[in-house]
Amino acid sequence: MRSPRIDLHAHSTASDGTDSPAELIAAAARAGLDVVALTDHDTAAGWGAAQAAADRLGLRLVPGIEVSCQRDGRSIHLLGYRVDPSHPVLVAEMARTTADRITRLERIVERLAAAGLPLTVEAVREHVPPGATAGRPHIADALVAAGVVGHRDEAFARWLFSGSVYVVEHYAPDPARAVRAVRDAGGVPVLAHPFGMGRNAIPEDLVEELAAAGLAGLEVWHRDHDDDATARAEAVADRLGLIATGSSDYHGSGKRNRLGENLTAGDALAALDVLAGVRAPAVRDAPHRRPGQPTAAAPRAPGGTAS
Ligand code: AMP
Ligand code: FE
Ligand code: ZN
Ligand code: FE
Repeated sequence: MRSPRIDLHAHSTASDGTDSPAELIAAAARAGLDVVALTDHDTAAGWGAAQAAADRLGLRLVPGIEVSCQRDGRSIHLLGYRVDPSHPVLVAEMARTTADRITRLERIVERLAAAGLPLTVEAVREHVPPGATAGRPHIADALVAAGVVGHRDEAFARWLFSGSVYVVEHYAPDPARAVRAVRDAGGVPVLAHPFGMGRNAIPEDLVEELAAAGLAGLEVWHRDHDDDATARAEAVADRLGLIATGSSDYHGSGKRNRLGENLTAGDALAALDVLAGVRAPAVRDAPHRRPGQPTAAAPRAPGGTAS
């Protein structure tokens, strides 16, 4: 039996991806995935359309969210698989975050415009799909449309990176609170790209604190992790008994990340299913397979990263 191809982190136009939820599922099928998770920033708005497409194409969808969190000025991303999206604490946190993301977008645009870039709030709004979680990538899209840069990457490298003088933070819950909220909402919390490059890399004692608060897994295989970060993440997951996952963090054409460039082992998905109370038997790995390894070496992200 072929090993299942499982990618547990991808974005759609419900947040800052460029594929609609249905297009994302079609792309996942083309990439030969058996299982894909839709994990838009601070919203479950894409789940319905993604599930309908997954049913049509015979893929398994793992519904999820990527909760924006903040601690000590660090932006931290928490994946929450199979949460009840109507859970009141989660709904309140996501509503507060997405509302403040809009105000914050306007403040960033004002700063960039004051610096002489040809941007207006109205022009940026045109790049935020209706109801989508607004983010820096949509500002980058407006800069691409204005011909200032050729790709989102370049806008991030020059102006939109975390720590840039033009970037303002938005409200985001503390990660320990978010871990508890995801658990209370019946979901499985997994820390996204914990040791990613740059200023948002998470100290190990915070991972320990979150594990004590109910964190279930750690995203180990991710493009933002160099070899050292991957080895460290694997060791920390092992030491703390966390489920190790691997994923692409696909954003359509908005990022270089390709679906399936990192994968999650069948046993890890089975462990997540158990925690989520999913009773259907999960696909299993062939015994010889090394977990989470991409089929080909994943290229490193060019330029800066702000996730
Ligand atoms: P925000 O949610 O507004 O804080 O923006 C962070 C998001 O920007 C991340 O979730 C990524 O999707 C995206 N991002 C970060 N770095 C880059 C980059 N170099 N190129 C394209 N998108 C990026
Ligand atoms: Fe994103
Ligand atoms: Zn993501
Ligand atoms: Fe992220």
